[in-house]
Amino acid sequence: MKNLKLPITIDPYKSAQRRLECEGYFELSGMNRLLDACEACIEQVQVSVNFNVDELGLIVMSGKASALVTLICQRCNEPFEQELEASFTFSPVKNEEAAAELPSYYDAIDLDENGEVTLRELVEEELILEIPLIPRHELKDCQACADSVWGQLPEELEKPNPFDVLKQLK
Ligand SMILES: [Zn+2]
Repeated sequence: MKNLKLPITIDPYKSAQRRLECEGYFELSGMNRLLDACEACIEQVQVSVNFNVDELGLIVMSGKASALVTLICQRCNEPFEQELEASFTFSPVKNEEAAAELPSYYDAIDLDENGEVTLRELVEEELILEIPLIPRHELKDCQACADSVWGQLPEELEKPNPFDVLKQLK
């Protein structure tokens, strides 16, 4: 099942009636926004997702996605590998009113004109959200820290002391 290529879109209602559980992958070639956001993606995106109907009768699709990517360390400018892992719980909605009534523990996901959800886009979006705002090596792996005499105190470097500015003014 792991090597199943997942459909780009899927009907959440039919899938939920069948209590569908699927595990598979997406090719990176269809994920341009994720590719743009990273230096490189190394493997296919692995996804597991299951469909269900909750006690309120709402359709729920929940799952996990992961991708191994290369990011550029903002401290030393060298590339490093990082596993992005996202988990999600969505409930498909037909319109904004339905979205507003959704319990807060679900994220609303829009249906396309065929009544399907774009699984690939959803997964891509979730993974992009997992990319750190300022990608950095672990301290022990970072060249900038190894080279710097301030290697012991990297936090000090990142947060300029506001009083330093005042000192310069004097
Ligand atoms: Zn680094």
